[in-house]
Parts: sequence; C-alpha cells; structure tokens
Amino acid sequence: MMKINRPKAPDWLDKNWKKWGKEYVDKLGKNPKYKFSWKQYKKEKVNHLLLPLLKKMTADHCSFCDGFPMGQGLIKETVEHFRPKALGMFPELVYMWANLFVACHFCQEKGNKFDIKLLKPDEDDYDFNKYFIFNFRTFEIETRKGDGISDADKERAEITLKIYKLNYTGRSKAREREFKNYLNADIDSRNINDFSYRYMFL
Ligand SMILES: [Zn+2]
Repeated sequence: MMKINRPKAPDWLDKNWKKWGKEYVDKLGKNPKYKFSWKQYKKEKVNHLLLPLLKKMTADHCSFCDGFPMGQGLIKETVEHFRPKALGMFPELVYMWANLFVACHFCQEKGNKFDIKLLKPDEDDYDFNKYFIFNFRTFEIETRKGDGISDADKERAEITLKIYKLNYTGRSKAREREFKNYLNADIDSRNINDFSYRYMFL
C-alpha cells in the first residue's frame, strides 16, 4: 500500500454528498438491492465520474495492493468504500470523497470488513516504510519490527495485511514476477509508476 495524496473533492461531489448519502440510506432501508446502485449526476453514473479522478490519485494503481494498470487485463477496477456502505456500518458516507478509493476486484472482496485501526493510504502520516518491510525471499509484506515502531502501529499494520489479504496466495508470486520485470527493464527509461507493487522499489 503506497501513500496517496488526495486532492480536494470535486465541487459537484462536495455539494451533494451529504444529501445523496441520506437518500441512499432511505432507499437501502426499503430495498437491500439498492446497495449496488449508483446515483446519476448530469446523466452519468457517479462511479463512472469518480473512477478517472481516483485513478489519477494513484497513478492508475490499486489503492491497496498497488496492482497496475487498473481496468486492464485481469485487474478489474472498482470504487471501494473504505468505511463500508452497508446498513449498520457507514451508509451515510457512501458519497464522501475521503471515503472513496479505486481498488482492484480482489482488494474489493474486503466487503463489509472494517476496523477503526485499519491503515488508510491517504492519512497524513502514512508511509509504507513506517509500518511495513518487504521480504525479498518470500515476496511477502511484513509488519515492521523492533524499536522503530510502536505496539499500536504494529497492530494497525497486522490488521491491514489481514483485511486486504495482502499476503494471500498468488500475490507473492505476482510480486516476484513483477520484480523480475523491473530488473529486466531498460534502466534509462524505467519509470516506477509503470510497475505494480511499487513499495518493492522504494
Ligand atoms: Zn488491489
């Protein structure tokens, strides 16, 4: 998970998110299937308006596993609600800009799991190296150990690895392949943003 710098919300969203959130809560209360509906704004579905903005924020990477490029090949792109939008969770935040991220299909399987300690990639002092280290033998992400990290931060890192299944089978293999691609790329024209899992190269 790379650090994300989030720009200001677009005006149209800033103006409407609270009203749309209330409408969503109402409609969801009446029909559970409404969970998968998106509001339209100026004849466009809001998720379609949001995706380009969210992807710009991550240089086209998944906000959580850092898979690239979003929307191509096997990496289906979705709008992820950091705080889940299910009833009884945070449905009123369904259109809140700071709650929205682009995520790959796999990371979106997080579904309704949430923990107040979950790391948020756009929080002010988030940095991969503050919480994690990358193990180049196993190609897994590990929680940072030792004096450099508090117990509370260790717990946040653990929870984040678990909820987004960042070391789930298959992900280490994909990282190993990408690491080789990076090493084999022409060093003069190599751009870190053209690769998945950029935290390996920091
Ligand atoms: Zn992902």
